[in-house]
Amino acid sequence: SMASPALLMRVVASAYSVAEKAATIVRNVMAAGDLEIVEKTGANDLQTKADRLVQMSICASLARKFPKVTIIGEEELPTEEVTEELIEDGHCEEILKKTCPAQYAGIKEEELVIWVDPLDGTKEYTEGLLDHVTVLIGIAYGGKAIAGVINQPYYNYKAGADAVLGRTIWGVLGIGAFGFQLTEAPAGKHIIVTTRSHSSTLVNDCISALNPDSVIRVGGAGNKIIQLIEGKASAYVFASPGCKKWDTCAPEAILHAVGGKITDIHGNSFQYNKEVKHMNSAGVLATLRNYDYYASHIPNTVKQSLVP
Ligand code: AMP
Ligand code: MG
Ligand code: MG
Repeated sequence: SMASPALLMRVVASAYSVAEKAATIVRNVMAAGDLEIVEKTGANDLQTKADRLVQMSICASLARKFPKVTIIGEEELPTEEVTEELIEDGHCEEILKKTCPAQYAGIKEEELVIWVDPLDGTKEYTEGLLDHVTVLIGIAYGGKAIAGVINQPYYNYKAGADAVLGRTIWGVLGIGAFGFQLTEAPAGKHIIVTTRSHSSTLVNDCISALNPDSVIRVGGAGNKIIQLIEGKASAYVFASPGCKKWDTCAPEAILHAVGGKITDIHGNSFQYNKEVKHMNSAGVLATLRNYDYYASHIPNTVKQSLVP
């Protein structure tokens, strides 16, 4: 008989279903009409009822199945008991059928850290830019992002009533990434994707120095990695603090699984062990291809303004 699947594959398979449940919650809260918006640090740092419910759903569902895994979510965990209707206990069979890469086959629960952004692109969610929104579940081992799930609850929402709404992208280093069509960006063009709601002079000066042919301003770290792997943009450039480890963990795993690269603005890789500070203080630079062009054109003045 088949040996039981490796822990990592069981975690990814569960995270897939948990992210699909999360997407349903995101859509249901919007459809019900009252987002119950709370300002966290200010008007550009919001939390809605969906952020809160999804945080509870993901963290409680994964903690119940994998009690010794460390789970770090963006939102504060509530003190009250999580209601059963928020618990997802399913998994994706297709993921369990894949062979775990040998270097991850012996991973134990206490060695995994899961970084959860229950709703990435909250500002855009509140403004009705629904396809910017993603749910991010990143899985780290030995300080590295090794697997991730990105759910886009409103994928296809402009494509008409016949289109299937929403999708789930997943990936594991050494296996690859699935749930989308890997596409190269137009050759020879510098198409930069960046923030739409957290710009600054530094953010814009850095982009100008890269000689862009065009600049796409959209919300969400998850959404911007999707722009890279689907060939809509050639680099994600964000020369600012603000992005956190839960924003980059799942996107990093998926981007790396297809041969891309993500670092801070200095070229340092991100660490995802449980003790690490949450803020990516020195910004984000990510590409599917041609990382060196962008890294070598970041001005020193920009680098000096961003302390890791
Ligand atoms: P953005 O590209 O602006 O959508 O940002 C990507 C992620 O980083 C989102 O989760 C944002 O909430 C977060 N982020 C970026 N800049 C800031 C900021 N100045 N304050 C709070 N969150 C930020
Ligand atoms: Mg986020
Ligand atoms: Mg969030």
